[in-house]
Amino acid sequence: MFKLKGIAAASGICIGPAYKVGKEELLIPKDAIREQEIPLQIQLFEEALIKTRREIIELQKRISSEMGQEEAQIFDAHLLVLEDRMLIEEVISRLKKEQVNVAFIFSEVLKKYVNVFARIEDEYLKERISDINDVGRRILRHLLGAERKSLSDLKERVIVVAHDLSPSDTAAMHKQNVAAFVTDIGGKTSHTAIMAKSLEIPAVVGLEEATGRIKPGDMLIVDGNTGTVIVSPDEETLNSYRQEEVKLKGIGERFLAVKDLPATTIDGKLTEIWANIEFPDEVSSVKLHGAAGIGLYRTEFFYMNRKDLPQEDEHYEAYKYVAEQMNPYPVTIRTIDLGGDKFLSQFQIPREMQPFLGWRAIRFCLARPDIFKVQLRAILRASVHGNLKLMYPMISGVEELRQAKQVLDEAKNELRSKGVPFNNDIQVGAMIEVPSAAMTADILAQEADFFSIGTNDLIQYSLAVDRVNEKVAYLYEPSHPAVLRLIKGVIDFAHNANIKVGMCGEMAGEPGFALILLGLGLDAFSMPPQVIPEIKYIIRSVTFKQAHAIAMEAMKLSTGKEVEEFSQLKLREIIK
Ligand code: PEP
Ligand code: MG
Repeated sequence: MFKLKGIAAASGICIGPAYKVGKEELLIPKDAIREQEIPLQIQLFEEALIKTRREIIELQKRISSEMGQEEAQIFDAHLLVLEDRMLIEEVISRLKKEQVNVAFIFSEVLKKYVNVFARIEDEYLKERISDINDVGRRILRHLLGAERKSLSDLKERVIVVAHDLSPSDTAAMHKQNVAAFVTDIGGKTSHTAIMAKSLEIPAVVGLEEATGRIKPGDMLIVDGNTGTVIVSPDEETLNSYRQEEVKLKGIGERFLAVKDLPATTIDGKLTEIWANIEFPDEVSSVKLHGAAGIGLYRTEFFYMNRKDLPQEDEHYEAYKYVAEQMNPYPVTIRTIDLGGDKFLSQFQIPREMQPFLGWRAIRFCLARPDIFKVQLRAILRASVHGNLKLMYPMISGVEELRQAKQVLDEAKNELRSKGVPFNNDIQVGAMIEVPSAAMTADILAQEADFFSIGTNDLIQYSLAVDRVNEKVAYLYEPSHPAVLRLIKGVIDFAHNANIKVGMCGEMAGEPGFALILLGLGLDAFSMPPQVIPEIKYIIRSVTFKQAHAIAMEAMKLSTGKEVEEFSQLKLREIIK
């Protein structure tokens, strides 16, 4: 038995067997194919070889001009792998014989080659292993772009152990047999961690050596509350975790008792408690946990794990469903926020050095009004079926808000000219998640109907801490005085302009910060559905006056640690 310590990403305890996935393995499903599909699979393989060849020649040219010919020659060996008839023929003959998808066959043949080379006592040939692996990965990437499906054939409930999982990998776990997951890298507010919460499975990220030390089939205890993973636990440890599960359930029941009551403080201040969702079918969980609306519907997952772009009617059906199910409660649809750690294969977005500072969210949408307007028209059409609002992600200044509203007006005119009904007064909000927006929130408040503070990004941008990097996770502090000052400023600016301000970053669902945020005057808290009962319980246990005093005291402290300790202490005093 041994313990690994990482970052608690999604709460809960899970006991089960490890299912290890390699860096790329996750993306390689084994799918049976029919005989008539064989030619198409061969074509996919040939196209992947051609694309890889083109890619390597490009790379070679660049290296040659930037670094010299000699360095560029390294890639000759890579090109030779691509021309290896034996490898190509083996893939094609196995494909015909075994009748499973070509990506799977290719990865098997590749593994065999690597093993053969590894056994050869010749240094030169041994070195070719990395060439083969490198080229192999490139080919696989192309193949998987064409036939991507993940983790769809798990027969039993397992704990996925991976070096890293992308948000789209995690999205693909939706409704699959994944009971929990643990990864070597990643931070608390990476979209991979956020997805784990909406899947309602425990997750620990940033373990650094999980894939190095856990073997397939090892029994694991994943403690998503403390960020601990116990490998091959003894009987005693297993029993104590089983007891812990029961205890947690008991506390949970206390919270669940208030879940359908309003989030009103003892002295009568009413706050809104809303839910964050990624998929329309989460509305049942939203209702079950007592949310009075949806404060953040992340729509970009619509675009993931598929080859084509979602059509207007597809968007419309999803939004209509959520609007009708939640009516009369509000549903806030956030327009697509791709880029950052959420990449979509079909747009062929070039990899950027700093994706979180790059072509992301509203920047992408304003540059591609064709794609943006499809979504806006669908939201507008669905707005007659319930209480829909929309908001834009990553607004950095008022000009972007104006431009986005201009595109919305165009979408409205297009519908109007066709006589399609929509709610002309649909509320339009701005997410406040870039420090420049927080600092100019007084200007933005003149032109937005509401604000929603996105602390996941606001923290990473204001503290200069990559939200997905476990190495700097210790600096990622929601309680940092700089973050508190920004939040307070946004709330005050919003209230001066008479608009409401909510928060939809993970901080809104952290019990430790509820009293401070309440005391600062936040109007709405939006969070993963499962944490709603606990936050409601906390809000219902204090007076606003008490919370305000706690917030003002916290604002005087000098470090994030001090704020955190102080707020935990106050929470323990109130929730005994
Ligand atoms: C945020 O940044 O806080 C937010 C809610 O948006 P996302 O996590 O999707 O970037
Ligand atoms: Mg964000």
